[in-house]
Amino acid sequence: MTQTIEPAVSGASGASSAPTYGNFIGGEWQPSVSGATFASLNPADTRDVVGYFQASSAADVAMAVRAAELALPAWRATPAPRRGEVMYAFAALLAQHKERLARAMTREMGKVLSEARGDVQEGIDIAYLMAGEGRRLFGDTTPSELPDKWAMSIREPIGVAGIITPWNFPIAIPCWKLMPALVAGNTVVFKPASDTPHCAALLVELLHQAGFPPGTVNMVTGGGDEVGTALVESPDVPVVSFTGNGHTGRRIAGIAARRLKRLALELGGKNGIVVMDDADLDLAVDGILWSAFGTTGQRCTAASRVIVHEKVADDLLDRLEPRSRALRIGPGLAQDTEVGPLINVRAVEKVAGYVEEGRRDARIVTGGGAPSRLGLEHGHFFEPTIFDGVDPMDRLAQDEIFGPVLSVIRVPGYAEAVTALNQTRYGLSSSIFTRDNNTAFRAMRDFETGIVYVNAGTIGAETHLPFGGRKGSGNGHREAGHAALDTFTEWKSIYVDYSGRLQRAQIDNQPG
Ligand code: NAP
Repeated sequence: MTQTIEPAVSGASGASSAPTYGNFIGGEWQPSVSGATFASLNPADTRDVVGYFQASSAADVAMAVRAAELALPAWRATPAPRRGEVMYAFAALLAQHKERLARAMTREMGKVLSEARGDVQEGIDIAYLMAGEGRRLFGDTTPSELPDKWAMSIREPIGVAGIITPWNFPIAIPCWKLMPALVAGNTVVFKPASDTPHCAALLVELLHQAGFPPGTVNMVTGGGDEVGTALVESPDVPVVSFTGNGHTGRRIAGIAARRLKRLALELGGKNGIVVMDDADLDLAVDGILWSAFGTTGQRCTAASRVIVHEKVADDLLDRLEPRSRALRIGPGLAQDTEVGPLINVRAVEKVAGYVEEGRRDARIVTGGGAPSRLGLEHGHFFEPTIFDGVDPMDRLAQDEIFGPVLSVIRVPGYAEAVTALNQTRYGLSSSIFTRDNNTAFRAMRDFETGIVYVNAGTIGAETHLPFGGRKGSGNGHREAGHAALDTFTEWKSIYVDYSGRLQRAQIDNQPG
């Protein structure tokens, strides 16, 4: 098995020694039509250029879509178990390169190394899960209402799938989409986030090495407005799977609706943790810290609200505040770092804006700005920040900030907690800390989110269960688990009549 992953098309670009990477089209790394490039920077130290990537346009997308169309007949005709075998080989390669990919991810995206390893592991897990689907892809066989007639349904690939992903899970999220699309027999054009194109290039190189035939997987880098829009608009891309923010999702939905495309949207969240008066508060603090400040709050499932019973609110904050203040901020590759940088300067400005506004409406408990520690001045760092006394309808408690900002909302009881928790336009993840089984089961019923945790934080999804949200967190599709196949397959129902005569359903088997 090969040890090297080098997808660069040329060694260096301009004054920097960072390599330049190509688009991957029809099994080859190639420059974009215009030849223009953009840089990807290390968010912990922006003097570090990770690489230069193709600033592609609609012409590059058209070439990639054409390559995917040409590869489609052979790939969909490849027996699904064989497609699964290629995916097993990819999963093994991903596992072999886990550490290298994790380090590359921390450098480019910023999350701490242990979390980057988890991100790659999620990719490995979904690859193995979906490789197994090569020998399942179950349909139904069911009795016909007529004698001597066979009835069944099978899944079929849709065609060329457009895959558009964000930067916060640069390996896991592409794998969540690529694996079900490919095992089902689709070919793909993948447009990664412009903040993490290096991770995408490394991933695509491994897919190539694993044996996915040329044209089966294509990647085009470049801006969302150019490359992403061209992909969604292409009449030859009948299915699009998108993860990102709601604003972009709505734009895409308008285009896809006009073209009657299949579209799966995984969007934002405003996830809440409910802490009841009978909760194990130390456990709750562990869950809150991990959910609010893990990945520097940049997870769609990050907890940005704690809805706490007023009887234990002070006690909870007394435990939470020092633990939060003690979190070690720094570059994700440093061994003792617990909170890495935000992704880019726009993210810092956005978070700082919400914090300034929050100071007017609520009491700041800890954090609130960039850390003053020497050595962090070239990165996008922001302190873990907690507000107390937040009203459930304040912007702090309503908008997805996507940074390390936590709002504490005090409530008098369970009913008010449920109201506050559900009173947002999102519905992705939620959790409750309680020692009462009855309360836990009520929460499982009452919380209007696609994912509910009991006595754990809001993050920690496993790849064999459906993942996704209600309300503004998506459009009803799910990733992961068997549900992921629904995005990338069409159902075909098949009837075989072996009676030798015409039998009319709903008529010949009914009296009168
Ligand atoms: P974003 O701006 O919507 O970007 C996501 C992807 O869409 C990127 O590849 C981006 O390209 C591309 N894009 C931008 N404009 C586009 C357009 N007009 N047409 C087509 N594609 C376009 O998302 P973000 O704000 O960076 O990402 C964070 C968001 O993702 C948060 O809201 C988070 O909650 C959500 N998220 C959701 C889930 C989930 O499973 N529900 C998981 C992770 C993240 P460029 O990078 O080139 O702009």
